[in-house]
Amino acid sequence: MKCPICKKEVTDLKYRPFCCKRCADIDLANWFNEEYRFQATEIDEKDLEELEKNCPQQDED
Ligand SMILES: [Zn+2]
Repeated sequence: MKCPICKKEVTDLKYRPFCCKRCADIDLANWFNEEYRFQATEIDEKDLEELEKNCPQQDED
């Protein structure tokens, strides 16, 4: 069995199908990002404007 993240042989079955906790975490993060992206497409333009107003971290160039 090979780790789907780093393609190394999985030796520790504790985290299978991943080789280690790090790869399991990376997969979880990838999954979460995809989910977030999917949800973001569901937001309509008015909501997006509201988000931008309420987000002081995004400075315009
Ligand atoms: Zn791995």
